[in-house]
Amino acid sequence: MDTVDGYLAEILAAIRPLAPRRLSLEDADGGVLAEDITAQWPLPPFDNSGMDGYAVRASDTAAATPGAPVTLPVNGEVAAGDTAEHELAPGSCLRIMTGAPLPSGADAVVPVELTDGGTTRVAIGQPVAAGDSVRRAGGDAAPGDVLLAAGIRLGPVPLGLLAAAGRASVLARPRPRVCVFSTGNELAAPGTPIARGRIWESNSFMLASAARQAGADAGRRPSVPDDPDQVLALIEDAAGLADLLVTSGGVSMGGEHDAVKAALQRLGTVRFRKVAMQPGMPQGFGVVGKDSTPILTLPGNPVSAFVSFRLFVRPALRALQGTTDDHQRTARAVLTAPLRSPKGKRSFLRGVLGNDNTEITPLSGQASHQLAALARANALIVVPEQVISMQQGDVAEVISLDD
Ligand code: AMP
Ligand code: MG
Repeated sequence: MDTVDGYLAEILAAIRPLAPRRLSLEDADGGVLAEDITAQWPLPPFDNSGMDGYAVRASDTAAATPGAPVTLPVNGEVAAGDTAEHELAPGSCLRIMTGAPLPSGADAVVPVELTDGGTTRVAIGQPVAAGDSVRRAGGDAAPGDVLLAAGIRLGPVPLGLLAAAGRASVLARPRPRVCVFSTGNELAAPGTPIARGRIWESNSFMLASAARQAGADAGRRPSVPDDPDQVLALIEDAAGLADLLVTSGGVSMGGEHDAVKAALQRLGTVRFRKVAMQPGMPQGFGVVGKDSTPILTLPGNPVSAFVSFRLFVRPALRALQGTTDDHQRTARAVLTAPLRSPKGKRSFLRGVLGNDNTEITPLSGQASHQLAALARANALIVVPEQVISMQQGDVAEVISLDD
């Protein structure tokens, strides 16, 4: 039997990161940056107003008090986007809008709130200092500053910053394309009628969603029956279109209906093995097709498939983007009830973290088909291989499912 850690290490060692590509900002969303981004221009690019108000020489407002305001003539207006050269004559002011370029000669902006809002002449009720309400060129970033370092994941703020810096495309490792499908004669599409002996197929929906949540561009295929020829055809087709394949079902130990296992005897390098864990013992990993597309074959029981995704597929997705997963990150919480665990296997029991994540309550319904119980859980309780029971009050290792 493989250990959980040994199996994961084997997967991570075999996966080669996707080649970086030049991507438009929209396509780069969720990608991992593969170059340092250096500012070419100052941010902001020019001195501009931080407020709606009046551009002034600060010294012209020095004598202003609420009781004896300074009154200045308003010699025009500068709006955001105005590219004309404006010059401020001493002893006057210009109406100015947020983001508008600061006229030459001005060194401060009086916010409209500190004035009577006049249009030809304005009364200013208190003095401003040089630099007040002015956003200096380069005040956020100077040319040559590293705005974003290679290796970060491109999400909302980095993409906004790239655009603000004038970049339309970047070199990034794209979101991995993932294809998910299930096998089993018993599986029927949700929404279709089922006869006794059949169940609605759930894993492909769950796993595709999990892959998307983990940053992949994931799609699912309709399930296929336990027919190695059909399974093989689907794998061959999908391998050419995806960076990672994920299957569920058909990998149990010894069942002659294990079509995934049978199909992959004929294609690729997949090695099937038992991993010392519960749920999720039967696992397979290898590469298929001319592009050596990695494939993970997960067991069919829904809870097993979910736990397997979390432990092996998610780190594999990170590896495809050249980053490491925080999959090792666990927290500690106090058990509110005892639990049991099989000897020699690392178990991942479903639990509810409560009381500010300091307490963990094992759920009832720990069998690997109990998806409804999994839906009540927000954490997995990790019980080491050699531990067969834990008591109320013991400190357990937990993996939060909230991220
Ligand atoms: P298998 O791994 O194919 O032996 O399947 C183990 C158990 O998981 C069986 O009870 C299957 O009916 C169930 N199962 C397999 N695939 C799925 C699926 N895609 N959705 C829901 N249950 C499944
Ligand atoms: Mg099956």
